[in-house]
Amino acid sequence: MAEDCSLSLCEDGECEPAPVGCGDVPATGRCEADVAEVCIADQVMVVDCGEDGLRCVMTEYGPVCRVPTDDDCDWPAAATTCELDVLVVCREGRLRQIDCGTLDARCVATGGVARCVSRVSPSMTDDGCGPCGCDEALTGEEVCDGRDNDGDGHIDEDGCDPIDIVAFVVTDKRGNGSYTQEDIEAEVALVNAAFGRLDDYGLEFRLAETIWIADPELLVTDEVEFDRLVDTMAYPARDAFFVPLLFTDKVYIEGIPRPGASTIPNGMCGGKRRDPVWQPIIGLVAIGKRRWETTVAHEIGHFLGLCHTHGDHVDAVPRVQGTDGETIVCEESCLLEADGICDTPPDPGPPSCTVGEACTIECENGEVPDGRNLMGYYPACRSVFSRQQALLMRQMLALRRGWHACALAEGCTCEPTGNSCPKGMSCRRLAPTAEGEDGGARCGIDGASVPGGTCRDPRDCSRGATCMTAPSGQSLCIRLCSEDTPNCDCRELAGNPWPICIEDIGRVQQ
Ligand SMILES: [Zn+2]
Repeated sequence: MAEDCSLSLCEDGECEPAPVGCGDVPATGRCEADVAEVCIADQVMVVDCGEDGLRCVMTEYGPVCRVPTDDDCDWPAAATTCELDVLVVCREGRLRQIDCGTLDARCVATGGVARCVSRVSPSMTDDGCGPCGCDEALTGEEVCDGRDNDGDGHIDEDGCDPIDIVAFVVTDKRGNGSYTQEDIEAEVALVNAAFGRLDDYGLEFRLAETIWIADPELLVTDEVEFDRLVDTMAYPARDAFFVPLLFTDKVYIEGIPRPGASTIPNGMCGGKRRDPVWQPIIGLVAIGKRRWETTVAHEIGHFLGLCHTHGDHVDAVPRVQGTDGETIVCEESCLLEADGICDTPPDPGPPSCTVGEACTIECENGEVPDGRNLMGYYPACRSVFSRQQALLMRQMLALRRGWHACALAEGCTCEPTGNSCPKGMSCRRLAPTAEGEDGGARCGIDGASVPGGTCRDPRDCSRGATCMTAPSGQSLCIRLCSEDTPNCDCRELAGNPWPICIEDIGRVQQ
């Protein structure tokens, strides 16, 4: 080795200049007209979107270069609106339409905020749980999931198994790359330092395997390559759940360099589904060479279901409409706003906040976010997760561990009427074989439509439901049931081979 470039890249046989600080460019970056400026590891990087005829649009993650379209919107998010029963929100710098019908809900605008508002399920009131449904039953056996499963007042007292990391390291054709095995081990040590805690809710990671990928195309991984990897990645057939970490030279999302990127568990962060489209079951974390010391911990935070502290959750389904038309709020408002976490202070985000001495954050609106939080965009100050964040990551870890068992090879077989699948998965019948025999059924990851909600495909449905034509002619997610199905009035319906939960049909048009 002639020279160690540390976090700088080696280009044309020389280390790129050492970073000198970002001046007034915030860590989220900014758009100056159509020029994007970002700050990564104390170095400003400038991309002129306008040069390519593109527009600079600000998102929660930073600026992006985009073909100008009518649905671009700048973060912080614009006001939400209802168009009939479609909720329109600004997400990732683009207006998104969320069909409240998939949530068996209506779009209701009150006090300048539009939201999907669902209705009371008759079975929920019938079985004595009230309009918000029953609390999840304790299973009795304590497992690592951030919950007190045995009801003894202690959470996860038996501890959590260490989490495996599988590192994929991108190199050129000859196997030369920007990372050594020691670099990867050092990153895992940093992750363990970030996830270690004084309370008992930390997580421990161990490097299970390093896989070298000699594919120069991937040395610059953009969103197209990232999505392709997520769809086609040759994951190793490991029995235990693992976090797949791709180490490459550069990560670009929509034309802009990023320190890293990650999928979130089935489109969820802060405990709520954010993305209605079909999601990968395993997913991926990608890490660039130029990154913050805490970037890998931050991205694993996303991989385990955390939002940014400056995220927003305007599209959550917070409340139900009672039979008398009154709106009932079922969850604490802090679970439905911002990052969906109750013990992180409000964070307007770096564009309107500045980092003062000793990492005190001062915001224009007087809010005082915790600059130390690993899910914030005050990277020089980041060092901790909050307690609620730590517990939510354990919940998502438990989900991911369940999915992992059904993700590889044959998958998990299941009975369509029993919902015997791991939590967050539903039983899907497979197409008949070429000989016309029954194809059986396998557990698939939940879609975004709830029972009673509209759907186009069985993969849209969740909580054990499948997409069927209701007597009204609508395609709805309907649960096939047995006597034991909770929150369900299970009945035979003429012409149906299986009994169904009668409340799942036809509430939408009421
Ligand atoms: Zn992030």
